[in-house]
Amino acid sequence: MSSPQLTHPAQRIRAQGETIVIALIVASSMLLAPILAQEGVSQSGHGVTPVASAATDDRYAEDWVMAAVRPELRDSIRAAMPPDLPIYEIAMTLEPQAEAGDVPSLTGHLTLTYVNTTGEALETLPFRQFANGPDADHDAQIVSDVTVNGAEAEVALSESDSVLEVLFDEPLGPGEVATIEMGFASFLPIDSTSHYGIFGFSSQTDTWALAHWYPVLAGRDPDDGWLLDHPSRKGDPIFTDTALYTVTVESGPDWRLATTGIQFGDTVESGSGMIERRFVSGPVRDFTIVADEDFEVITTEVDGITINSWFNPGQEGVGEAVAQYGAQSAEIFGDILSPYPYIEMDLVPVDMHGAAGGEFPQLMYLGLSYYTGATDLSVPNALDFTVAHEVIHQWFYALVGNNQYTHAYIDEGITNYLAADYYFEQAYGAVAAEEMVESYLSGPFERIVGNDGDVIVDQPTDDFETGRDYVFAAYIKAPLGFEAIRLEIGDEAFFGALQTYIEDFTFDVAEPNDFLAAFEESSGEDLQDLWDHWFSEPAA
Ligand SMILES: [Zn+2]
Repeated sequence: MSSPQLTHPAQRIRAQGETIVIALIVASSMLLAPILAQEGVSQSGHGVTPVASAATDDRYAEDWVMAAVRPELRDSIRAAMPPDLPIYEIAMTLEPQAEAGDVPSLTGHLTLTYVNTTGEALETLPFRQFANGPDADHDAQIVSDVTVNGAEAEVALSESDSVLEVLFDEPLGPGEVATIEMGFASFLPIDSTSHYGIFGFSSQTDTWALAHWYPVLAGRDPDDGWLLDHPSRKGDPIFTDTALYTVTVESGPDWRLATTGIQFGDTVESGSGMIERRFVSGPVRDFTIVADEDFEVITTEVDGITINSWFNPGQEGVGEAVAQYGAQSAEIFGDILSPYPYIEMDLVPVDMHGAAGGEFPQLMYLGLSYYTGATDLSVPNALDFTVAHEVIHQWFYALVGNNQYTHAYIDEGITNYLAADYYFEQAYGAVAAEEMVESYLSGPFERIVGNDGDVIVDQPTDDFETGRDYVFAAYIKAPLGFEAIRLEIGDEAFFGALQTYIEDFTFDVAEPNDFLAAFEESSGEDLQDLWDHWFSEPAA
């Protein structure tokens, strides 16, 4: 997820070192328990658009499926898409506080067309309600009226109501299709620090941050199966698989919506002064929305990609800088990794409570403190680094998935390394890159190992003894492991491996050994010892 938060965004890069670590730890220990009103749940079952049945020859024939993908890449992206992606059709209504005392909430109806691609018969299908469960009494999302193929279905909740298993009457065999429908309501915690504020309402800006606002299929690790652990308290709580989304949002007419994907079709009036907009995603791991009535936006284009930099009134200067950093990040990594497949990319301020940013498909959160503080916009700076970090996640996490809970170092490590080193080298030259690596990676590494000793990088996020250990492992030591691999095998083999890895695992989930194999194949070297030294041993 988030690159570590900086206490004072105005600090110049060379002054940061340990403050980035400390800030995140303080925030992680402050998980509060917001009280959530649970009344007034209604179900809106309108607006669902039919999609091609899984039984038809081409599930992806309809226009909306590829609409968010850049036209020149549609053929290659379609060829890379697995044939049986889950299809989510969601209709959702934003329900701002109707009366004093209510919390902001949303209601929705979800239809999932699911093809069993697990290779085994399924007696249940696990969904995650990531809005629930950061704390034992945090109950932000409820589900009702669950059906399977039109018949009422039983469900079972566990892990602080963050796992919702839908029970099948008959096992769903490999290759068989099920249509699961459910109503849901989500209640936004206000100014909650849980999960770094990725789901909630900010009273400072009246912004609705809507990560995991709907029940989503559990992510499936190729080695370990469904990830059904309690949502991580220290790092990214979300791990999901690629799917297609068509989402209709009903809201008041003034709402600005930054979303995964693009708006598809016209805005229509839905009665009672409300409007409806339909958004479609293309193949993505998640569908995230940030809603705000007074957002403004600066739009820029690079390589056929529209970069939307959203901001609150009065923050245009930061909005402009973010648009520029986003555009140059998209250009640099589109060149060296693979073309960014989608038409849009959204960069959005969110009050993140202890994280600098967060990655979602085609949409990135950036900590509100960058926009409201005395942010130093001379380059290179910390905001620039954070934007690059989150944009690189569009390849490592979004296109190529990894189990972000069990092996967080894979996407965070390569992302933080490429942001500090390659991005700054390309954007500002070799000296700037050396300064970034020293101030963000090698300097803190030496100080922390000297003071506190080393830790093993490859562990599930919540197995780390402290949040500080997790941040050290994923954001500082792991990047240096990837730098060591680059120094060992050279640039051609290193970047060749990144390209092969992306090509082979786009829309899929890779295991750490797949990444190691890509480096070994491109270099012809046995890198197991080097890999173990950095990622599996406390051997600094
Ligand atoms: Zn990250």
